[in-house]
Amino acid sequence: MSRTLERTLSQHFGFSSFRPHQKEIVAAFLGGRDLFAALPTGGGKSLCYQLPALVRTGLTVVVSPLIALMKDQVDGARENGIAAVLLNSSLSEEDARAAWRQLYRGEARLLYVSPERLAREEFLQRLKELQVSAFAIDEAHCISEWGHEFRRDYRTLHRLRAEFPQVPIAAFTATATEEVQQDVVTQLQLREPLLVRGNFDRPELFYRVERKKKGIDQILEFVQRHPGEAGIVYRATRKATEETAGKLAAAGIAATAYHAGLPDARRAAAQDAFVRDQLQVVVATIAFGMGIDKSNVRWVVHGDLPRSIEGYYQESGRAGRDGDPAEVLLLWGPQDIMTQRFFIERIEDGELRSIAEAQLQQVLRYAEGAVCRRVVLLQHFQQKVDTRGGSGGGDGFDDSRKGCGGCDVCTGEVTLQDATVEARKILSAAVRTGQRFGGHHLVDIVTGTETDRVLELGHHRLPTFGVGMDWPRARWLALIRALEAAGHLQRATAVGGRHGGYSLTATGKAVLAGDVAVRLPVEGPDKPASSRRTVVETTEATALFQRLRELRKELARERGVPPYLVFSDRTLRDIAATRPMDRASLLECHGVGQAKLARYGEAFLKVLVSFPE
Ligand code: ADP
Ligand code: ZN
Repeated sequence: MSRTLERTLSQHFGFSSFRPHQKEIVAAFLGGRDLFAALPTGGGKSLCYQLPALVRTGLTVVVSPLIALMKDQVDGARENGIAAVLLNSSLSEEDARAAWRQLYRGEARLLYVSPERLAREEFLQRLKELQVSAFAIDEAHCISEWGHEFRRDYRTLHRLRAEFPQVPIAAFTATATEEVQQDVVTQLQLREPLLVRGNFDRPELFYRVERKKKGIDQILEFVQRHPGEAGIVYRATRKATEETAGKLAAAGIAATAYHAGLPDARRAAAQDAFVRDQLQVVVATIAFGMGIDKSNVRWVVHGDLPRSIEGYYQESGRAGRDGDPAEVLLLWGPQDIMTQRFFIERIEDGELRSIAEAQLQQVLRYAEGAVCRRVVLLQHFQQKVDTRGGSGGGDGFDDSRKGCGGCDVCTGEVTLQDATVEARKILSAAVRTGQRFGGHHLVDIVTGTETDRVLELGHHRLPTFGVGMDWPRARWLALIRALEAAGHLQRATAVGGRHGGYSLTATGKAVLAGDVAVRLPVEGPDKPASSRRTVVETTEATALFQRLRELRKELARERGVPPYLVFSDRTLRDIAATRPMDRASLLECHGVGQAKLARYGEAFLKVLVSFPE
């Protein structure tokens, strides 16, 4: 059995081994067991139901929420030689009839349907006439109100259990919080499901955060370091997307804006061109991305502070789905905090307002902190970072600094300076004034600024008055934010949602006592871009790779599928590196299975054989 699975994996998908958890899931699903699997984006969820569909008799029904995505998924399955059909509202009557004919003849292994179609009584009854042997629910978090993308029509999926009591159900999602898992299991009435939670670390992503200094110019500079590589820029407002896209386009980069205010046709055209490698950059509000399965997105830049860590994780995670190195960058400045606070203070519901404030704090902890970016992201999923570096030393600092090897903090790009002494000064000022003042007043005290308020309250007589004249005001404010982000200071929320004064937490008291050290990123001049490590390998640029990429594009156009479905970037790189000259050695390359060899082998070999050394 196990050998059969591996053989199917290599013959149909051209992969030499399973990704983590895939085999466990495939085996359980084939054994007729229900399951819930939370795997990160790019974790290879589709294979978890496509491979069983190939092996078992009967039909596997896949529920998928996005019509645009469904077509790509079906094309993808067909590219791997799996008979797949889809039924949704985008189909002409004639195409729908053809699909049903195939289904009745038992020719299809996979049926992709939208949840609204599955909710129809008539459809459910018709489905019973077929030999349905499994259900796979993609994007299963949509069934939960706890998820960030609740969809009402997913709710009717609870009927599947009653209508098809014998058929196993597998739920897949990239959202891994406990609440979502519980909710999905209950709603779908899964029976003793296998629960799988993948590793949410994305080792292929390099995380970097920079201060916004020149705004759009920084984005342009970044894109210019990635010539010809597809990427997404996220901006907070529609206006900013237009401006950024305009600037990139003026520099000769194929870029376009994408936001909810544009006509449907323009958005669809942008998405299509991006997926087909005809458009290098999409500058988008968060309206873009969920419907994108494009695996060769090489970078993602956020031009503004995101609103939540979950959102940032999912958006930045759209890079590097093929497992090849990819780079993500977050640009932010103090202005972003003010903008977000402006909106947060206007949220009427008190609970929602404090959730939004807490999310901002988490994001700041990511952006401003001196802690490994990966550690902060993964904490959100209750996961620890797998450190690739040393085990860390006991110097009193956060060990994660030595850790991940894939972020600007761990690689030492961010220079940290010890700020324990300064932290103790500001904490002391807070304590001596009764822990009820905001940041500006505390900074007035340590910098020795005699404001009316300081004089009125007699704070110029405190021992901490003027002890921090060597630091500029802005640096003190940054330190206070860092202390807050690190959880050493907390801010009371006064009546009406306004902010009260800062008080010390337990760890804040430990800092004051000198038991815990504090470090702060040094604010120096920007390092020139050339001194930074460029993550994406230079083989990208070889002439052969470029030629293969062109060939992929031609073949994709002929077949009417997106290029990444023909072969992934990784496959092209593998081919370029090993230069196979015959069918057998081409088959050895990553991602080349029998179906693709038969379809594309000749075209690729022709180029390879004639390509100059
Ligand atoms: P998800 O839906 O979990 O985001 P996908 O199913 O789209 O991920 O898979 C992401 C990429 O990983 C695809 O290009 C897919 O072909 C590839 N992939 C899946 N399984 C494997 C494997 N075992 N080995 C190598 N690549 C794989
Ligand atoms: Zn790190």
